[in-house]
Amino acid sequence: ISRSRLDKLLSDKLNIKRKDVRLLLAQKRVFVDGSLALDIDLIVDSFSLITVDGDIVQANQAKYVMLHKPVGVVSATKDELHKTVIDLLDVPYKSSLHIAGRLDLNSSGLLLLTNDSRWSERLSKPDSKVAKSYQVTLANKLTEDMIPAFLNGMYFEFENITTKPAKLEVLSDYVAKVELVEGKYHQIKRMFGRFRNPVVKLHRQSIGNLQLDVTLKPGESRELHPVEVQSIF
Ligand code: URA
Repeated sequence: ISRSRLDKLLSDKLNIKRKDVRLLLAQKRVFVDGSLALDIDLIVDSFSLITVDGDIVQANQAKYVMLHKPVGVVSATKDELHKTVIDLLDVPYKSSLHIAGRLDLNSSGLLLLTNDSRWSERLSKPDSKVAKSYQVTLANKLTEDMIPAFLNGMYFEFENITTKPAKLEVLSDYVAKVELVEGKYHQIKRMFGRFRNPVVKLHRQSIGNLQLDVTLKPGESRELHPVEVQSIF
């Protein structure tokens, strides 16, 4: 993100002197993200929508994309061996994006990408309580004792943490819905591993209120609608 003072940005973009910028501001003709801007020293960045007399001087350049991640594609921006999720996108700004919550190589489903690090940080911070829901297919039958075990949390020695309460709903003998509010390394696989029950399929269906768009086939993506960007919080 590049930051600058409002008067400098307007002077550069409109090719006018700073004193003329002051005049524009005094005449109440400048809006930043929908609010009247009066101060020359307001700090703006490339995610600020700036208008003068209602004309866009700088568009908000924040981008948000949802991808239906297929199995076998790696959640990284670069990889020697595998195709990456970035390779699947066909937007010109794709190299500016980072991943907001990775999925394992052999997992599929909803993956969010953005260039707005404030948004992705809010999404992934430990106390955000944004629930992520997964459909999980197991090698062996599910058992009732898994439900309280997921809810009570499991101690992971490697990270020295206890997992937060996770909701497990049994959908059929081999299929469960699991809801997490965090994302530790291979968390779901490790939790079922405690029951010696290998995960054979793992598909993320939603993050917060945001559902994977059912019209997206594996490998397809689209930009988020503004209401979806805001729905996460
Ligand atoms: N838990 C896992 O084990 N893998 C994922 O990709 C997501 C959650």
